[in-house]
Amino acid sequence: MLKISNPANGRTIAELPDDDAAAIAAKYRAASAAQPAWAAMPLAQRLAAIRRFREGIVRDLEKLAAILTSEVGKPTKQARNELNGLLGRIDFFLAETEATLKPRDVFDESGMRERISHEPLGVIANISAWNYPYFVGANVFVPALATGNAVLYKPSEFATLTGLEIGNLLHASGVPRDAFQVIVGAGSAGAALLAQPLDGVFFTGSYATGAKIAQTIGPRMIKLQLELGGKDPVYVCDDVDVAAAAAGTADGAMYNTGQSCCSVERIYVHEKVHDAFVATFVKEVKGFRIGDPTSEDTYIGPLTRAPQLDVLADQVSDAKAKGAKLLLGGARIDRPGNWFEPTVFVNVNHSMKLMRDESFGPVIGIQKVASDEEAVRLMNDTEYGLTAAVYTKDRARAEKLLAQLNAGSVYWNCCDRVSPRLPWSGVGHSGIGLTLSTYGIETFTRPKAWHLRSA
Ligand code: NAD
Repeated sequence: MLKISNPANGRTIAELPDDDAAAIAAKYRAASAAQPAWAAMPLAQRLAAIRRFREGIVRDLEKLAAILTSEVGKPTKQARNELNGLLGRIDFFLAETEATLKPRDVFDESGMRERISHEPLGVIANISAWNYPYFVGANVFVPALATGNAVLYKPSEFATLTGLEIGNLLHASGVPRDAFQVIVGAGSAGAALLAQPLDGVFFTGSYATGAKIAQTIGPRMIKLQLELGGKDPVYVCDDVDVAAAAAGTADGAMYNTGQSCCSVERIYVHEKVHDAFVATFVKEVKGFRIGDPTSEDTYIGPLTRAPQLDVLADQVSDAKAKGAKLLLGGARIDRPGNWFEPTVFVNVNHSMKLMRDESFGPVIGIQKVASDEEAVRLMNDTEYGLTAAVYTKDRARAEKLLAQLNAGSVYWNCCDRVSPRLPWSGVGHSGIGLTLSTYGIETFTRPKAWHLRSA
């Protein structure tokens, strides 16, 4: 049985039977049998089912937001934001799939024609994280279904109720039950899913799990995408509007209680504005309301996973031991559930875990730098490379800096932002492959090369 508890108070909210290896193998066989008919259906019909899924999200938005809040602890407003953001992503896929899939003739001379078409991969596994289950799930299952794949979707064990709601809505929208199936369970269910003869694996989660999956899947020569963690830096230049930069980066660090793959995790500030920035940043963070995630005015809720409390406590004690100065927070909040104070350190450096390992919580280090060169060197001094941001009034300076940063996404005067129109990808331990943009539609297909001689 899988026990689901509310991270805001530790109470059990559901117990569900999880899928064992035999159940997962049966789901695979059913998906494999259903996929050809789903792929053969006209694209307009598959897209119509996805459009009805969108309508279902709009209709049930409040109920879905409440379920999400109950199992991951995401503050209600942020749960609604995630669902509303999902609508924009679905709209993008609905608008772009037909043109992206259209076969293209790329050569036609002397009776020889060359064409590229896009074939679905087949049956894919979509193993997902809990921090944005609608975003990271739908980035995969919406375009995968639209392009004619069958999907075995394993939501995180911390977002199972949401995963089951997604399944019910897709089935009610006309996606055949066997073409989209939800696998209930934790890591062992994920491993049993990977043992099936899949045609593709699309994973979102931690580097540690991603590295294990790469070892298992690598020799099988099937499509593998890994969207992993980050240690995303921001550089605040000496010419900024300090108030705007502090407000933007504090939100980037603390939104979703710091549990976004693209949360701001390190801040470098030019020495000329360092003290003013830090004072304003701390004031911003103090203004964030912590508490019951079902309250409309809550901004910071509990951590979803209890073990992360130990990770944060360890980063805090390591930073203190190495000479960092604690300006705010630094400890668990003593109440039932998984609570940690919003925490701000200065006088940090790269010998500290806080500046090297993903925190995935409301904890941030701010480091003073003397030049743009030093900032770039420190920003790139990481195993990760998901996003990186620069705050400055000078666009040319920003673009020069952004060009030097090893990251999948770079931002000028903004951060912690994802667009359906742009590819979402990482460098280094942040993963391989991508979702979103038209590339994130193509990625669920196999390009097929046609050589056609007319005589
Ligand atoms: P996780 O690695 O613990 O779990 C992810 C999924 O993998 C879960 O469904 C889990 O049950 C499953 N799993 C665990 N062990 C497995 C195994 N051996 N075989 C197959 N599946 C297995 O990660 P998490 O705690 O759910 O998510 C947090 C991490 O995800 C953070 O590092 C975050 O940065 C990252 N993330 C990245 C992105 C991105 O787009 N790059 C987006 C969201 C989250």
